Amino acid sequence: MDRSVTPYVTPWTGEDTSPGAVVVTASGVAYADPVQDALARDLDGALWTLCRGEASGRPEYAAELHPERQKTAMDELLCAGCKKPADRNEHGMLWVLPLLDDAVAADWEAVRSAIPPMCEPCADRAPNLCPVLREGHVKLRVLEAEQIGVRGTLYPRPGEPGEPQADVLVLYDSPDLPFVVARQAVRELCRITVVAFAARLP
Ligand SMILES: [Zn+2]
Repeated sequence: MDRSVTPYVTPWTGEDTSPGAVVVTASGVAYADPVQDALARDLDGALWTLCRGEASGRPEYAAELHPERQKTAMDELLCAGCKKPADRNEHGMLWVLPLLDDAVAADWEAVRSAIPPMCEPCADRAPNLCPVLREGHVKLRVLEAEQIGVRGTLYPRPGEPGEPQADVLVLYDSPDLPFVVARQAVRELCRITVVAFAARLP
């Protein structure tokens, strides 16, 4: 497998990003080992999933982006494909997103993205690599991209019925934040210019 073309945020079959065992108390979810727990917390106090294994085997394009690398790219606004700084011009930073079923609003204003921005060469290449973008995508320029929260597994509070729920968006100011194991950082994209639409590739 040619690693040079595999996007930075794509997970590999040799990697394990299952959440690991957590303890749920009235104050939130935690890892039993306090050292591990401290290492897994972000600056907002959210607990992140543990990432193990190595980038070997096959890339898994249809899967969720690799939590640790997705977070790095989102935090530092690095290209999802190559980890270089994302492209920026007078209309803002470059983002390539899949077309959404509900189409948000026609102008894409305030769309919430777990996909990091990209550089120009990766933005051109990504739809050929990524099956989700191949189904159709939009190219945006974005002037504001505030980090608003995380997507992850939300655990019921002690005594509450129900199972942990996967892939829940939890905002940083939500009372649910202590009860989520984060897997993806989310930014809200504002002051948007739509650059191009692409329908499904043949
Ligand atoms: Zn790139």
